[in-house]
Amino acid sequence: MSQPVVTRFAPSPTGYLHIGGARTALFNWLYARGRGGTFLLRIEDTDRTRSTPEATQAILDGLAWLGLDHDGEAISQFARADRHAEVARQLLAEGKAYKCFATQDEIQAYRDAARAEGRSTLYQSPWRDADPSTHPDAPYVIRIKAPRDGSTVIRDEVQGDVTIRNDQLDDMVLLRSDGTPVYMLAVAVDDHDMGVTHVIRGDDHLNNAARQMMIYEAMGWPLPVYAHIPLIHGPDGKKLSKRHGALGVEEYRAMGYPAAGMRNYLARLGWSHGDDEFFTDEQAKEWFDLGGIGKSPARFDFKKLEN
Ligand code: GLU
Repeated sequence: MSQPVVTRFAPSPTGYLHIGGARTALFNWLYARGRGGTFLLRIEDTDRTRSTPEATQAILDGLAWLGLDHDGEAISQFARADRHAEVARQLLAEGKAYKCFATQDEIQAYRDAARAEGRSTLYQSPWRDADPSTHPDAPYVIRIKAPRDGSTVIRDEVQGDVTIRNDQLDDMVLLRSDGTPVYMLAVAVDDHDMGVTHVIRGDDHLNNAARQMMIYEAMGWPLPVYAHIPLIHGPDGKKLSKRHGALGVEEYRAMGYPAAGMRNYLARLGWSHGDDEFFTDEQAKEWFDLGGIGKSPARFDFKKLEN
């Protein structure tokens, strides 16, 4: 029997629930609900200067209005910082990560020299292979040992196989010198610990997948299935913006749009099922699959919502 499906919606609470975010949430919800799976909500509130409780509430309200119920409590990413740090320290103990004592000035000097010599400016730390007995008593970051050769293939259900040369991946920082985890670590650890089997999100995160996969591989964790959905554009083919109409789900609610109509419209933004334009929630749950997601950006024409 195949593994039960677990999806998640992982918004950053820096503003209202946007049309694009609502569509991502809907796709994750449909995928899980149509398969007897679990749909989780994780609030990515690690950016303390931009995250606000009001934005978290606006996202919760928007999801509730759309009827996209999540299983269990919403998880705060910030509250899990100790666990993220623990994984960085485990990789350090296993020799899959290292302490890097390079200062910002040294890194800058490395990049300047590399640029001048026409080499890759990706920083290669001399501390990667340093003997720990030579370590100074000074602040350090923990960096992962990125693979140096070969390539990483993201097997994406929407984009197909996406190959990234490993010499384009740097030894990214996992833990900053103040002991705080970086975002990439937080996402990989949370997705793993939450048992997420399918990561369905905007394709602006495609490159992050290769970096998150490095963490999975170093920890020996099974990879989730990835599905990176093309972003939404306006009717003119340009990136969706305010001039195309209201972008907040809340604004449509305030204008009196029915939630069911909004769900139907959002479902069709980038996903199709034959020629069907309207479907019930039960049909959407039954029909929704990752193979039906288009490879090119969906066009959002809010005038069509009115019909
Ligand atoms: N927090 C990210 C965002 O709001 C999503 C991260 C993810 O889905 O992995 O765009």
